[in-house]
Amino acid sequence: MSIPHVLVIPCSAQGHVIPFMAVSKCLIEHGVRVTFVNTDFIHRRVIDALADKDFLGDRIHLVSIPDGLGPGDDRNNFGILLEANFQVMPAKLEDLIRDIEEKEGPKITCLVADGNMGWALQVARKMNIPRAVFWPASAALWHWELAFQRIPIQHQMFQLALGMPTMNTAHLAWACVGDLAAQKTVFSLVVRNNKFLEVADWLICNSSPNFESAVLNFAPRILPVGPLLSSHWLESSAGYFWPEDSNCLKWLDQQPHKSVIYVAFGSFTVFYQIQFRELALGLELCNKPFLRVVRPDTTEEKDDAYPKGFKERISGRGKLVGWAPQQKVLAHASIACFVSHCGWNSTMEGASNGIPFLCWPYFTDQFLNETYISDMWRVGLRFKRDESGIIRRSEFKCKVDQLLDDVSFKIRSSDIKEKLAKVVDEGGESHKNFSDFIQWMKAL
Ligand code: UDP
Repeated sequence: MSIPHVLVIPCSAQGHVIPFMAVSKCLIEHGVRVTFVNTDFIHRRVIDALADKDFLGDRIHLVSIPDGLGPGDDRNNFGILLEANFQVMPAKLEDLIRDIEEKEGPKITCLVADGNMGWALQVARKMNIPRAVFWPASAALWHWELAFQRIPIQHQMFQLALGMPTMNTAHLAWACVGDLAAQKTVFSLVVRNNKFLEVADWLICNSSPNFESAVLNFAPRILPVGPLLSSHWLESSAGYFWPEDSNCLKWLDQQPHKSVIYVAFGSFTVFYQIQFRELALGLELCNKPFLRVVRPDTTEEKDDAYPKGFKERISGRGKLVGWAPQQKVLAHASIACFVSHCGWNSTMEGASNGIPFLCWPYFTDQFLNETYISDMWRVGLRFKRDESGIIRRSEFKCKVDQLLDDVSFKIRSSDIKEKLAKVVDEGGESHKNFSDFIQWMKAL
């Protein structure tokens, strides 16, 4: 019998490529071969950020196709990016598949596409390839995006069923993209995309029944297989868009047990100057060790964005890095808490390591994840903003103290860590769902 060969195709965002790498690593653990399809633009970033140690072996093959945009186009505009993808990528994907099959013989066994790349399922169907969708965010968000048939005009809180978290319509994906006309365009792209997903054989989601049982009961077609974390399988950090600064792990080795505040806001968050400085001063005020990620594009400030003398004053107890190996950081014994923007991956990673959170959401589903963390799982606290929307240094210190002084956060976080470890282990529901998926694939 030949080895199953799976084509995986994530959406062009860091928070999608990393969990797709986790799925890929999991697939190769089960003896499957993976061809990982990025856009040319993302592929270059991933290759440029690879470290020597990021050896993927011959089971994960990184390839790329054009995304439909020109070299200088704005790839942060999701509406434009998704439409360009839709116009150009299906034909390119088809060519790629034909090319692989011509050169390598056996047919592609299965295609696993991102929930935002519905068109790829249509290509697979046309080519008679079995297909699955992997959704790298919460089941709640996915369920809602699949459920809306008309764009909600008013901003209001809603709850689809009892036991599900509440969410504001202002935080749905399309509501964060400019004026109403732009929002309607993105909404219609989402609806079109969701229609394409109807031909999927499997809908799997990087979530866990421990977290989202109400939603998963309500939407039984969505099967949780998570939390899938790359670091569970391979040492390699391949998939990052920025080179990681692994020196911070050595720095963490020198810090006392559960003493360090880890601060990171994912791959998109950008700060106004005033908020950036206030956070720096808040960290200074806490007088505790901290590790803070500041991506090169975190502020719009060209010169030094930090308060005057900040770096000198915090040297010795504060470490600033451009990009951290976050999963390894969160697994480090010195970490006390995670100041996070509550992206779904960060949420899964913090929870899997039993780390309490301070929630600092920025947009879209990050507010929903904040609700999960602080109101439903009660493993974190939210910050209060002042009348101009700023989180002040005194509020920052107050919440850090409150979180670290209250042992109940530690207890609940450890409890969740234990449950999440069980659910992906032999006998757990996520483990069973993933095994069933692999069995299906191997029987094709
Ligand atoms: N991440 C990382 N190093 C950093 C910051 C983030 O490896 O310094 C990773 C993090 O572990 C997560 C991903 O980037 O897997 C961010 O995804 P998330 O869903 O949390 O947020 P997004 O970037 O999509 O807003």
